[in-house]
Amino acid sequence: MDCVFCKIVAGEIPSVKVYEDGEILIFRDIAPIAKIHLLCVLKEHFSSIAELDDRRAVLLGKTLKKIGELAPSLGLSEGYRLVVNQGENGGQTVPHLHIHILGGEPLPWA
Ligand code: 5GP
Ligand code: ZN
Repeated sequence: MDCVFCKIVAGEIPSVKVYEDGEILIFRDIAPIAKIHLLCVLKEHFSSIAELDDRRAVLLGKTLKKIGELAPSLGLSEGYRLVVNQGENGGQTVPHLHIHILGGEPLPWA
């Protein structure tokens, strides 16, 4: 599949990984817009929250729980922002669902 995040998950494109388990991968964004800018992807390829079924919704919930658990060890104990861009108007450039994790400094409201 011609998807940059699937290739990162498969190890075909290098990335700086900060957490991985059977279902998700968290790695550094190649073009950070905050002191800490991570991307959390579900390993399964789908692009939008409109494609969530019950199983994927449970997985997304588990993913948010995991991000909350990991945050202190990622340098985010003073807070962070999660962003999910959806579609063209939302600024989504990679059509593989991902959560931006932004922090490491006070963030402007965008
Ligand atoms: P979107 O605009 O779809 O919400 O976010 C896509 C993000 O993926 C962007 O912040 C962009 O910098 C990041 N990105 C695109 N290609 C690569 C890549 O090859 N490696 C990494 N680490 N990040 C990427
Ligand atoms: Zn993909």
